[in-house]
Amino acid sequence: MDYFNYRGQQLFAEDVAIAKIVEEYGSPCYIYSKATLTRHWQEFDQAFGSYPHLICYAVKANSNIAILNLLAGLGSGFDIVSIGELERVITAKGDPKKIVFSGVGKRKDEIIAALKVGIRCFNIEVVGELDRINQLAGELGVVAPVSFRVNPNVDAKTHPYISTGLKENKFGLDTQLAIHEYLRAAEMPHIKIVGIDCHIGSQLTETGPFLDALEKVLIIVSILEKKGITLEHLDLGGGLGICYNDEQPPKPSTYINAILKRLGKSYSYEILLEPGRAIAGNAGILITQIEYLKTTADKNFAIVNAAMNDLVRPSLYNAWQEIIPVNQQTNATMFTWDIVGPICETGDFLGKNRPLKLTEGDLLAIRSSGAYGFTMSSNYNSRPRIAEIMVDAKTVHLIKKRESLQELMANEYLLPQ
Ligand SMILES: *Cc1c(COP(=O)(O)O)cnc(C)c1O
Repeated sequence: MDYFNYRGQQLFAEDVAIAKIVEEYGSPCYIYSKATLTRHWQEFDQAFGSYPHLICYAVKANSNIAILNLLAGLGSGFDIVSIGELERVITAKGDPKKIVFSGVGKRKDEIIAALKVGIRCFNIEVVGELDRINQLAGELGVVAPVSFRVNPNVDAKTHPYISTGLKENKFGLDTQLAIHEYLRAAEMPHIKIVGIDCHIGSQLTETGPFLDALEKVLIIVSILEKKGITLEHLDLGGGLGICYNDEQPPKPSTYINAILKRLGKSYSYEILLEPGRAIAGNAGILITQIEYLKTTADKNFAIVNAAMNDLVRPSLYNAWQEIIPVNQQTNATMFTWDIVGPICETGDFLGKNRPLKLTEGDLLAIRSSGAYGFTMSSNYNSRPRIAEIMVDAKTVHLIKKRESLQELMANEYLLPQ
C-alpha cells in the first residue's frame, strides 16, 4: 500500500497534486511519500513484537540522506556496502552501533573508517577479509565485531542478476569454509564473533527460499555451538519483494511470523533483517513528461524526458513498472505505446506495449521507483541527475536539487594550453 492515489482525475502524493509539484520543481523528478516510507519500516519493526530484533535498512536501495534521517529517527539500523554509504548514514544521524557492513570487496580505508566509528558488525564474505580486519583492528587497538555471510545455495527464484544465494554466485562462504573461518576467527586477538548472516537475493515473492536459507543457517549455528562458538544474532538479509505488476509477495508480517515460528522458543538470538526494496520501492514514483509522440508503421513511441540513466531497472533487468497518467482527464484515444527516453540506445525504454491515452505534454508517473531508481542513476548522455522530492502530508520538501549543467562538469579539467 502507498499514498499515491487519484483524487478526482488527478494523481496525488499524500495531500499534494503531482502537477503542482512539477509546476514548482519541473520534471523529470522522483517523488517520495514520507507516510509510505514510515509505514513500510514500521510494518517490519512491529511484526517482531517484543522479540529482540533490528531492522537494518539496506542503504543502496535509496540513499538520500533525508530518507536515511527519517528512518534513523524511527530507530532503524542500516546495512551499508561502502564508505560512501557509511558517510551518508553518519551525516543522516544514523547510529553507528546499528550499522552492519556487507559486501565482497571492502577496501582497507573502508574497514578503517568503519572501525573508527564503531559499527555493529562486519559481514565477512571473503577469506582474506577476516585477516585484513584483524590486522587493521590490531593497528587501531580495537576489537572488530564480525559475522560471516554464508551462501546457503538456495534458489531465490528471482532475476539472475539479483540472485545471490546460489553456489555459483560471488557472495558469501559455503558451509565448510564458513565453519573453518569461524574457528580461525575465534583464535584471533582483534576479532569478536557476534553473528551469522545470509542474503539470498532480491525481489523474492515467496517465503519458501527464505525458510530454506534459515534452515541452512541453523545447521551451521548448531555445528558452531558444538564447537563452543556462540552467536548473538542471526542476520537473515533483505530481499522481500514488492508488487510491481501482479506479484503477490508475502507481507512483512507473514514473512517475519514464519521466521519466528520456525525459531520457536528454543532460540534466543536477536534477529537482524536488511530490507531495502520492501521499504523504499513503493514509496517513490518517477514523474516524466511526454516530449513527442512518434508513430511508425509498426509501433507507437511516446518519447519522454526521463530515460534509462534516470531509471535503469527496465533496461537492466527487463523490469516491468506500472506507468499511469498524472491527469486521467483526456480526449485522446487508447493506443499501445512504448514509453522511451531520448538516449541513443535501443535499450532505453521505461515500459513497452502499454495501452494508454496520450497527448504530447502529458505527465506520466512510473510507479514503484523508490528503490534502485535514483541510486542506480547516472549521467549517461550528459544528462544531469534529476531532483528528488519528499511529500509529507500537505508539505513538499526538496531533498535533492536537480543537477545544473555546471555541476555536470564540476570536477573536470581542460588540459593545459
Ligand atoms: C541488496 C542487499 C540487501 C537489500 O535487498 P532488498 O532486495 O532491497 O531488500 C540486503 N542485504 C544485502 C547484503 C544486499 O546486498
